Amino acid sequence: MTTLVWFRDDLRVHDHPALHEAMQAGEGSHAVALYVLDEVSPGVRPLGGAARWWLHHSLEHLAGELSALGVELLVREGPANRVVREVVEATGSSAVLWNRRYGGPERDIDARLKHELRERGVAAHSFFANLLIEPWHVATQAGTPYRVYGAFRRALGERLRPDLPLPAPSSQRGGDASPPASSRSTSLDALLAENISVLDHEPAWAGGLARRWSPGTAHAHERLRVFLEGGLEGYAEGRDLPASDATSGLSPHLRFGELSPREVWHATHAAAAQQGLDPEKFLSEIIWREFAWHTLYAAPDLATTNLNPRYEALGWITASDAQTGPEAELLQAWLEGRTGFGLVDAGMRELWATGTMHNRVRMTAASLLTKNLGIDWRVGEAWFWDTLVDADQASNPFNWQWVAGSGADAAPYFRVFNPERQAERFDPDGEYVERWAPDSLLIPPIVDLRESRLAALARYDALP
Ligand SMILES: Cc1cc2nc3c(=O)[nH]c(=O)nc-3n(C[C@H](O)[C@H](O)[C@H](O)COP(=O)(O)OP(=O)(O)OC[C@H]3O[C@@H](n4cnc5c(N)ncnc54)[C@H](O)[C@@H]3O)c2cc1C
Repeated sequence: MTTLVWFRDDLRVHDHPALHEAMQAGEGSHAVALYVLDEVSPGVRPLGGAARWWLHHSLEHLAGELSALGVELLVREGPANRVVREVVEATGSSAVLWNRRYGGPERDIDARLKHELRERGVAAHSFFANLLIEPWHVATQAGTPYRVYGAFRRALGERLRPDLPLPAPSSQRGGDASPPASSRSTSLDALLAENISVLDHEPAWAGGLARRWSPGTAHAHERLRVFLEGGLEGYAEGRDLPASDATSGLSPHLRFGELSPREVWHATHAAAAQQGLDPEKFLSEIIWREFAWHTLYAAPDLATTNLNPRYEALGWITASDAQTGPEAELLQAWLEGRTGFGLVDAGMRELWATGTMHNRVRMTAASLLTKNLGIDWRVGEAWFWDTLVDADQASNPFNWQWVAGSGADAAPYFRVFNPERQAERFDPDGEYVERWAPDSLLIPPIVDLRESRLAALARYDALP
């Protein structure tokens, strides 16, 4: 009897309930793992370049870990629904197991697939694994989703009792149970080789990612351990300083599920108790992640539509105008880190060089684009989507909408980050700017901060 475990954004073997269940099945049963690179099903968002790079390396690590457990990883490309059914047939699987995901198109795929598999007599089960609490367990008294972080966090605090993480399963016995190879199987090597050739077009860029990052669960655990041992104590003070290495750097590992939020949650509590520290500040960031995902669950078009529909009428400079109109030069300067605002330029160049940008700088750069330049937040969101290694279906659009003030959280629309003041407060010695954009101070600013701020406020005030 073969059980197929379908991996998605949960590229780990520990705290993986679907894998755990498949490996419990006992004598005569056999687990096979599958990853489907699906960029074609309706509504599914193709990965950006940096995330693709991460995925490539993360899958390599996962294949090794699964192999050590006696489980083969098949990697296929195509519409997930069709591909999973083909693999079920080719492997003779009698059950398909997966961990739940929360994007709208993905939920549709999973629901339809579950139904179709069951109609064919194949068992299909999904498990809770990738959040701290299911989104449908947290709602206001009126039954609506929370839109304000403080209230969300309080509600979560009352209900949150995350289970302890599951260990990695023990190895399955080999022997006669190996699955028949599918004639149409895309081998891991072939798919990864294809991705490598994509990366070969940008060798310098991929090299920058490789210098900064080490994908895979072993590295994720190591990063968590190092942060909890040495970084938790200074986190609250240091987390806003882009020149310091004071944050965890866990976001791409969480994005690809190399670590589960439950693991981070429990490990943080344990480390804090041992060191006599208060982990609240760090855990509140993990709860922001949760809030972004619960928001996406309630608003599946988060990346394309203002959460508050009023803001559709704001008169944003659209993507096509920003690329071809008089603003094209402004947008180009922002993308390339040539705005003349040191903190923003440093951030945009750090992003291009390493696939990440410090949170404080993300907020400042996003504010300059959406408020001072008046360019639609979706333009910046798309750039981040392509260039961030942690580009996340929920956190990226959620945070862009948060900065744009278009409905996420109580972030007031009239808060305009002043990049010069942000630099004075959070990079007082200019260390971060010096590191990434030392020439920026010589570039004339592309926009007058005061005038553009007033113009932005006037646009917001004029909304019906
Ligand atoms: C415009 C903009 C776009 C962003 N896009 C993304 C994105 O695509 N993916 C992403 O993971 N984060 C995104 N963030 C949030 C945040 O900048 C990153 O999570 C953080 O910089 C990652 O660094 P870290 O892991 O060292 O964070 P830490 O400070 O160590 O925080 C721990 C974890 O908490 C979560 N977290 C922290 N801040 C936030 C936040 N504001 N929203 C949601 N989760 C958070 C992350 O999973 C992070 O790894 C964005 C923020 C802004 C302002």
